[in-house]
Amino acid sequence: MTSLPRLSLLVSCLLLALASLSAAQQVDIGQRPRQSLRSHDFDVQHYRIQLALDEANRTVHGETTITLRALADDFRTCTLDAETFTVSAVRDEWGTPLEFQQTPTSLVVRLPKPYKHGETLGFTVTYRLVNPQIDSTKYGMEPSYRLGLDFKAKGDRNPQMVSTLSFPQGARHWFPSYDDPDDKATADVIVTARRDYQVVSNGRLVSVTTDEKAGTRTFHWSQQEPHSTYLFMVAAGPYVVVRDSLGSLPVSYWVYPQDEAHARRTFGRTPEIIRFFNERFGYTYPWAKYDQVIIPGIGGGAESTTATVIGESAIVPDDRAMQDFSADWLVAHEAAHHWWGDLVTMRTWSETWINEGFATFGQHVYTCHVRGADECAVDLLQKQTSYLDESKTRYSRPIVFERYDHPNENFDRHTYQKGAVVLHMLRYVLGEEPFWRSISRFLHEHAFGSADTNDLVVAIHETTGQNVAWFIDQWVRKAGHPVLDVGHTWDAAARRVSLRVRQTQDTSRGVPIFRMPVDVEVVTERGATVHRIQLDAADQQFHLDAADKPLLVRFDKGNNLLDELTHAKDTAELLYQLRRDDVMGRMWAASALAGRVGEPGVRDSLLQSAKADAFWAVRERAVTVLAGVEPRVGSEVFTALATDAHSRVRIAALRALGARRDATLLPFFRERFERDDSYQAQAESLRAIGMTRDTASLPFLEQAAAMPSPRNVIRTAAQWAREEIGRVAR
Ligand SMILES: [Zn+2]
Repeated sequence: MTSLPRLSLLVSCLLLALASLSAAQQVDIGQRPRQSLRSHDFDVQHYRIQLALDEANRTVHGETTITLRALADDFRTCTLDAETFTVSAVRDEWGTPLEFQQTPTSLVVRLPKPYKHGETLGFTVTYRLVNPQIDSTKYGMEPSYRLGLDFKAKGDRNPQMVSTLSFPQGARHWFPSYDDPDDKATADVIVTARRDYQVVSNGRLVSVTTDEKAGTRTFHWSQQEPHSTYLFMVAAGPYVVVRDSLGSLPVSYWVYPQDEAHARRTFGRTPEIIRFFNERFGYTYPWAKYDQVIIPGIGGGAESTTATVIGESAIVPDDRAMQDFSADWLVAHEAAHHWWGDLVTMRTWSETWINEGFATFGQHVYTCHVRGADECAVDLLQKQTSYLDESKTRYSRPIVFERYDHPNENFDRHTYQKGAVVLHMLRYVLGEEPFWRSISRFLHEHAFGSADTNDLVVAIHETTGQNVAWFIDQWVRKAGHPVLDVGHTWDAAARRVSLRVRQTQDTSRGVPIFRMPVDVEVVTERGATVHRIQLDAADQQFHLDAADKPLLVRFDKGNNLLDELTHAKDTAELLYQLRRDDVMGRMWAASALAGRVGEPGVRDSLLQSAKADAFWAVRERAVTVLAGVEPRVGSEVFTALATDAHSRVRIAALRALGARRDATLLPFFRERFERDDSYQAQAESLRAIGMTRDTASLPFLEQAAAMPSPRNVIRTAAQWAREEIGRVAR
């Protein structure tokens, strides 16, 4: 699961349906009820789900045959999750009616005889789902989230159609099931729909049959490898199917008719991504095909096995949208789920990071593979920052956490971003190849099954001989992260650097003192040396050889550690770091210099970085620092930066100019709106117009609002600008 962030490049992965993250309030998660692995007395082997869609009456006629194996002796009643639909009959394998009872949440079937442990049996449930109107908030989801099966009217973009959302416990709203992730089953899904519809589901297509008289077609899909019910899906509509492949693996993009020309731009890297994961994860993609299916009503996507659903806003409508709205990261995240979530599945909802941490990490690893070290570093930083924001403004919890009201509460920045960052650190601790060998083993041992964090520890131990329980304990089973106060001095007589590292995090609520290796680089005129030190106490002193006074002491070279870092340095060192360090070091130095712009050389160095640093993220950071600290920087500096080669730098410069509320810049903002080829930069120029509060700009904004743009960023910005002007006009 993922959802699209407001500005896709700023934050790589937000959540689909979590309560608003913008509410910067502390949430008392300790009050939530404790959940545990569910007990059950049967194991479902197979679902055969037959659905006849009657859109005119918003009704589904359903018939689901469940084959299961008893896990207990004297197994006489079978209780299934079943909500929203009404059961009319249950029959055994010979057609004999069975007694049943339906409660608001379950279906209880009286079996014809007691079964012994290991015996298999089957029965068929006939039911009707009429006008489903599920209040998703009762299940911990946003109101707009259409849990279960939904009849969709024609919308702004979407045609009339039918689709399902089974995550997290939505399957029970369209077929009777054991609806938790720890029971996997194979399935046949057989759907009858309007003749002009295409129907997609999990697995391989067995047949399509047409009923001329009824004007319908029936699609039979067969999922022959077991998977969990939250991954079951159906979508039916007038789709255009754009076909691609990876060798013999069929790869298809199911889009609305008007988006056919955009399918390859949006999804075209899919085969390459699957090929990359095949090698990287050490396990070949195990499913019959891979479809990505556009549906309305969600941002981001959900990784239903072999048939990922993707929100319609992911469509990239033209080439120039690629710079701000590429769907590659989303495609990679959902594809990675086909190993992490679909193949090996979290055993309980509290183990969500087995799905989301790994899928987010998979996306990160792919980003590094295709975009190089600097983009890789920025991607990691975004994940670190995203988690730190949540931990500071909402709550801090262990990644594996049993307290929740609804499964969706576990799908937060702790499981996505922190989970990914923890896997990055685990790789750093173990080493590249030992880590990936362990990952491959973990996949092989738990393929088509469920797993938890302890299984990961065991797989690593079996593969490398290393017991990483200490690492998992502090990063996954406990809350928090190191808050480090670092200082260094050079001892000329002893020819060494004395480095003091204090861990200052509040340890009163189970947050540990962390044990971690850290790389420290010491740069002198003679060159650079990297020292690996070991953190394991609240206050530590390290001595690092340095024949000359260092030009730079870089704590945590590689930015591997998830932490909050204060490292006091003199201005000369920061200026050296701003010019000469790697991207993370240069960005960090720019921020550290924010309070020193009055000192000689600082303002000019920041200006130089803003204009000429080789990497966009450093230029962006320098622009933001200058905008925040130096009102004396002339507007002409930022107008020049507003034509930078990278949209993110232009956006930062336009934001800096907008904050000046300077009406003399209006012609410039209009020119940028008309000439910039980035939708996001155009949107920023409209916000800057709004900031001037110039009422004469209202017609211009009204006209601008009509311009189509991805996710309506232009219209939204124009409306915001008009409201901003309205604030003063009233
Ligand atoms: Zn996900």
